[in-house]
Amino acid sequence: MRAFSYERATDPAAAAARAAQVPGAKFIAGGTNLLDLMKLEIETPVHLIDVNGLGLDEITRTDDGGLRIGALVRNTDLAANDLVRRDYAVLTRALVAGASGQLRNKATTAGNLLQRTRCPYFYDTAQACNKRSPGTGCAALGKGAFSRQLGIVGTSDACIATHPSDMAVALRVLDAVVETVTPTGATRKIPLAEFYRLPGDTPDKETVLASGEIITAVALPPSIGGRQSYYKTRDRASYAFALVSVALIRQPDGTGRVALGGVGPVPWRRAEADAELPRGAQAVMARLLEGARPTEENAFKIPLAERTLAAMLAEE
Ligand code: SF4
Repeated sequence: MRAFSYERATDPAAAAARAAQVPGAKFIAGGTNLLDLMKLEIETPVHLIDVNGLGLDEITRTDDGGLRIGALVRNTDLAANDLVRRDYAVLTRALVAGASGQLRNKATTAGNLLQRTRCPYFYDTAQACNKRSPGTGCAALGKGAFSRQLGIVGTSDACIATHPSDMAVALRVLDAVVETVTPTGATRKIPLAEFYRLPGDTPDKETVLASGEIITAVALPPSIGGRQSYYKTRDRASYAFALVSVALIRQPDGTGRVALGGVGPVPWRRAEADAELPRGAQAVMARLLEGARPTEENAFKIPLAERTLAAMLAEE
């Protein structure tokens, strides 16, 4: 691990200003992903700004009847919150499907959104990776590469990595909005639908956050009710990332919303696919995965996504 300096922040705007001031600075909260990346020297921050003292650890009602989740609310506390369990059950289900109990106790809401891909070549510094080292190439696209876990939609010739978060898939289906403070002290509200960037030629740039900008909360609109479920298909029953995951909200009249995890660089949802829900899983996936570019190793994700949604619809 490379040497770094450290400070504790006490105010979000000051923390943002400080991060913009010090080149190579990073925020740290739970550290469940960042510390691993630092040990492997994939992330090499010269300065860490500990944000655990910012007091952003509450879940409160918003004026419009929605919910504001502080950036530092731990995944365990968010999953167990009574209002979340009652009104946003898809979020609780996604959270408990992610990681392990120990990790959920430490991982924060903002950190979960900002975790990096688990592409095996991203973690192997002997391999080419445009996301880790821009311009070096993509080992996952090489002949015979291991791409079973990687993306099929929204990918590019530079990167086919997936976003690993389960929580983000549920937040996407709930139309969540990310709230931030910039280094000038201004606040921004960014719909989660616009928060992540597609890789294009610059897979190292994963979000629309500006340098130093800090997430303070995630806001949920008032609950739309319905039957809310999350199903994660993976190679083993726990502590594994999704091959395909499905977040589903279904109303009694058959309408609803669907988002997918494990298939692309961002939580994957399309309004035109939501509109196909009354016609069943095949119609939804035809829209949702239109234009998919799987590799030979991960083409199975297309029928797997359809069958996962079909199984969920059959349960209702
Ligand atoms: Fe790196 Fe993306 Fe290629 Fe994986 S898929 S090796 S993260 S560029």
